[in-house]
Amino acid sequence: MPTSEVTLVLNQEPRATIIAPSDGPLAYAASELQRYVEKISNAKLPITTEVRTDTKAIGPTRIIFRIGSSAVKHDGFHLHVEGDDIIVEASEARGCIYGAYALLELLGCRFYGPAPIGVIVPKVKTLKLQAVLNLIREPAFMNRIPSSGTPEEQVQWGFNFTGVASSEESKRLIDRLGLKQFRWGHIWPILIGMRFFQDGRKPEKMDYTGHEDWLPANEDGVRSQTNQSLCLSNQYAFDWFTNNAVNWMFTNCQNADYVSIWSADTIRLELCRCRECFSKFRTPPYKSATDWYLLTQNAIRKKLDEQGWYNSFGWISYHGSEDPPNHVRLYEKGRNMDFLYAPRPRGGTQHGPLNNEHPLSFKYRQNLKAWLDYLDAQDYKGTLTVFEYYYDLILLGYLAEGRTFLIPKQGAIQEDMRFYHQRGFDGFFDCNPPSDAWFPDPLSRWIYHLLMWDLDLDLKSSQDDFFKHYYGPAADAVKESREAVEKLMFEEPSQKVVDELHSLEARFDIASSIASGDKIFVTRIEGMRLWVQYCALCKDSEFHAKVTHDFEKGRATEQAIRKLLNDNKDFLINNRFMSGEDLKLIAGDVVERNIVILPYEHQAEKVEKLILWENIPAPYVWEFALLMVVTANWRNGDASAGLILENVVKDNQELRDEAKEILGREVDHLSASTMLDVLEALSKKYRTFEALDYYARTGSSHKMDELLDQLSR
Ligand SMILES: [Zn+2]
Repeated sequence: MPTSEVTLVLNQEPRATIIAPSDGPLAYAASELQRYVEKISNAKLPITTEVRTDTKAIGPTRIIFRIGSSAVKHDGFHLHVEGDDIIVEASEARGCIYGAYALLELLGCRFYGPAPIGVIVPKVKTLKLQAVLNLIREPAFMNRIPSSGTPEEQVQWGFNFTGVASSEESKRLIDRLGLKQFRWGHIWPILIGMRFFQDGRKPEKMDYTGHEDWLPANEDGVRSQTNQSLCLSNQYAFDWFTNNAVNWMFTNCQNADYVSIWSADTIRLELCRCRECFSKFRTPPYKSATDWYLLTQNAIRKKLDEQGWYNSFGWISYHGSEDPPNHVRLYEKGRNMDFLYAPRPRGGTQHGPLNNEHPLSFKYRQNLKAWLDYLDAQDYKGTLTVFEYYYDLILLGYLAEGRTFLIPKQGAIQEDMRFYHQRGFDGFFDCNPPSDAWFPDPLSRWIYHLLMWDLDLDLKSSQDDFFKHYYGPAADAVKESREAVEKLMFEEPSQKVVDELHSLEARFDIASSIASGDKIFVTRIEGMRLWVQYCALCKDSEFHAKVTHDFEKGRATEQAIRKLLNDNKDFLINNRFMSGEDLKLIAGDVVERNIVILPYEHQAEKVEKLILWENIPAPYVWEFALLMVVTANWRNGDASAGLILENVVKDNQELRDEAKEILGREVDHLSASTMLDVLEALSKKYRTFEALDYYARTGSSHKMDELLDQLSR
């Protein structure tokens, strides 16, 4: 008669044997299972490579890790019980590691984030599993690329890629974990500035003396080194550049499974404007950055093939290369290529899901559709990867809700990921500077890790699971207080909201006392308390920027934010709420930018007043908008400019009407991207912007007040 349970540990005594090969990912899976079972129960399960082992001394239960021919998709796994055997089976070796962690979760462990505070290990004397166990898990995204963590953590969190090995030792570790390796970045500028060699010589600075005709020309025909591009219609320059890329690849990341070289990180990739370059792909409208980019990509792909390197070679759709090519088709239908889609400047949407009705989301959907049409039309054979920006403080750090890690909401991430999955994306990456921040707790990042595998995840039950395990006896108290904080952070700033946030800090004394005696619970609650203090200060700063216009108080609040973070530096770093680099970003650049924005928001309000009350003629308003885009790009990043601009003109019917006339299409809402379109059209159409000229002449935005005065006269 079959028993209804299988026993792993009985009263701290091992009752099961783990069976796995002696090396590779299955061996790692076995050792992780052994390690955690011992932590849970003090019983060390023996590991053997022999299936026909005599297990009588221990007990009848065997835990078998094996590669199977089962139909589990990608690197998923099948975990089931057959008689006395617990079987963890996968068709790719690392699937067994994910299976080992799933088994540990069934035994009560949780892997929310970095150990020790992110990992839950129960203390139990006896471990049993239901004999009816039958669990299949398959990842929603085949390629799951991490932005932080050690390789061991990355596999624990369900990723299947890690950064390319930098030493023999790291290569051995990566092989043991069965992870794939990737390398990417803004490589184009490097390939222009440096020469790489495959014969062992060190890279050296590229000297264009004697090759001045390889350098890109500006509109006046003057050639200079910009590190953005070269004169790619010059066959010698083109060949040199593509060979240099191949040399870079073979000397930097030959072992990578996936390499992506990106163009420069600018709004418009500055191409050569010589007659040959300009005319080669010229079709109105002249948007050939991607044509040049992919023509070059094709040539590099071909050369890599010729040298026998067939792994994935990707490009990024980002800023200057955003529109699909008009002329160039992908080499061999894009076989062994990856399309990396990065819809970055979405700060203006407060990072709602890409399927919402915000005009910026609409614009990206149109852009993505154009790309997918381009790929479909040539029977694309490569892969598609999403490059998203969740909790990105470079973009969201000027919003109180953004800098406190509340944007995007977990539901928005789920909608986003479903949206991409439905459109055939194979891979997902979340670029979230600060990439190693888990503050105030790992809930959001853990949810993201789960979503990479299961898009139908029940958010509520996952959240409940998290609070129950992570905060233990204080779960309800923390959950309730945290929800109250979140609600207040999304309200319009006022003294009342700020006061209420401060008053919530006291609730964590109660939470701490409930959990007292357990050091790890108390540490987690202290992290949450610190976050609430941080939230209250961030809201206070927003209150001064938007309501009181008391810049001195606003500045003092920003200084208090910096002090709070620095005073708790050791606590935050040692418990891995954030890395030292992240703390530097949050207490440094983010604070600095908000100090800059304080009076800037005020100026935005002045502009708003001018527009609304002083009846400034529309062209001047647009001129001002352009000035603000330029200065804000320079000072704060494009996303904050977008948001400020939107706030300035969002309800201005007159401007909407004019935008409609200029663009020849319906304009529901003056989003940053619509305004940029208008400004671009206007600048071509009928006038040079005096404000822009002024900006260019002075090279400074500190003259804003002067300009405002001029305009208001
Ligand atoms: Zn040229």
